[in-house]
Amino acid sequence: MTDIQYSCAGQPARFSKIGGKPLEWIDGNFLYFHLYNFSPDLPEFQQVAAVKEVFDRLNRELYPLHFRSTGHPEKHASHQVEKIYFVAADGYAHLGDKGDLKDVRLKCPFDFKANPGTLAVQYPNSNRKAAMSCFINDRMYLTLKHSDESHSLPFILLHEILHMFLDHTRAPGDIMNAVYAPGNKFTQDSRDGLMHVCGEARLAAIRNTPWSNWIWEQYGPAPIDEGPPGKTIIQPKKKCRWPWK
Ligand SMILES: [Zn+2]
Repeated sequence: MTDIQYSCAGQPARFSKIGGKPLEWIDGNFLYFHLYNFSPDLPEFQQVAAVKEVFDRLNRELYPLHFRSTGHPEKHASHQVEKIYFVAADGYAHLGDKGDLKDVRLKCPFDFKANPGTLAVQYPNSNRKAAMSCFINDRMYLTLKHSDESHSLPFILLHEILHMFLDHTRAPGDIMNAVYAPGNKFTQDSRDGLMHVCGEARLAAIRNTPWSNWIWEQYGPAPIDEGPPGKTIIQPKKKCRWPWK
């Protein structure tokens, strides 16, 4: 017997949206994200690129559901924005000047000082519909790739953002293991988990997305002739396996 646990198949209850509420995809297809501040560890353009790369990766896995960046989260339905903050050693995310307000800062609800091993946390905003806030511990030295002295920012971001959908898994080698291990990857376990949580929304989005109709034709339910005339029974044409990996 193998020890491998494909958590989605073996323990689907472990997969849950962290906010405990369904995400409301805007126009059925997308959500926003916004990077509120920067870490002093990396050039800002590298942080923007890292965030974009992580969401691009996630968008491929969620197709045709997707995240869009917004430079103006307050102009959009702010409750749908995934907010990303770097938290300094004083426990605050420093957001700079905002109009007339100088040195705006946001207190992180999680105490990284008391929990020095924690890299990042993801919080649902309980007073909003589906907002999430990701706080990254900037006491850690962050780089684009893991090294003996540093942690990988893209790796941390992907894990945290996946928490919008998934809990931790015990599947070896998967990025959703509770413990940071730089060799872990996005595996079939997380892919199955995303399908479990978002499959219905994805199929609905596919039906509403003209340029993805071919997928619906191949993988969606197909009418078959069975039973008395005039009665059509709908059943899946194929077991849904996604062609993108
Ligand atoms: Zn986690």
